[in-house]
Amino acid sequence: MSFVILDLEWNGSYSSVLHRFVNEIIEFGAVKTDSELNIIDTFSVLIKPQIGKKLCSKVKELTKITNEELFERGIPFLDAVNRFTDFSADSVLMTWGTSDIHALIENYSYFTGDARLPFLKKYCNLQAYCEGCLDLHKPSCQLGLSSCAELLGIDFSQEEQHRAFADAELSLECLKILTQVENNKPLDGYIMSVDDGFYDRMTFKTHFITDLKSSEIDKKQMKFNCNLCGRQAKRTTEWKLHNKTFSAEFLCKRCKHSFIGRISFKKKFNEVVVKKKIVEKRKNPQNSENDSAENNS
Ligand SMILES: [Zn+2]
Repeated sequence: MSFVILDLEWNGSYSSVLHRFVNEIIEFGAVKTDSELNIIDTFSVLIKPQIGKKLCSKVKELTKITNEELFERGIPFLDAVNRFTDFSADSVLMTWGTSDIHALIENYSYFTGDARLPFLKKYCNLQAYCEGCLDLHKPSCQLGLSSCAELLGIDFSQEEQHRAFADAELSLECLKILTQVENNKPLDGYIMSVDDGFYDRMTFKTHFITDLKSSEIDKKQMKFNCNLCGRQAKRTTEWKLHNKTFSAEFLCKRCKHSFIGRISFKKKFNEVVVKKKIVEKRKNPQNSENDSAENNS
């Protein structure tokens, strides 16, 4: 088995066809290793932009790539894909996080109308593997490549990072260290076959459910208990939608406490995340004073 660790650089290019910005890939950098993670080949190409005409200043600053370099030495995106397909052959493709895969799917479908990447048969998310080994599982805070390298005590120059090839090499260094630790999770568990389900997952967009009639909503979740006595409260108004959150007033029949219940439903690929909150009602007299003051001015 061989592995290919790929890293990309991209530029935010405005597409007049799609009327939106596209993460246009401008550089591929990759290392290929044998099953023992020894480097057996390398890959590095610049891509001549076809959607955007200029690099945005942030990308220029971060990557030190210039417009001249790209237009003189860059090759068209689909030529790079063909070369990379030959290079990676039947290797397991690895990237740090899935944003590079998203960018590849976006670029490849832009130019060919097809979302299926020809070089992607087996995939491993290195970031997920490293987070798993280091026991970091906070969904809100993902482990960056530089942070991981620092945690592992790898000596690297910040200057050289943010270039595709250097980042691919650094990802390999992290992988090597973590696979050598005894009792660490086996890498095999993180290698997946790329099938329809993989693309469904990759192209799925997390969103809020804003229709109360949706079958994804569990109606039982919309009940609220009184935050003072714990008894189930009665809803006294219709649900109102504001900023993707539903809210309604509730009244507790036992202690006469009246409050506002808020609830939102975030649809992820294989779950609906429900968030609930109780908010105390504001006192009315103060509001009317403020209103009259505003009216007078
Ligand atoms: Zn109560």
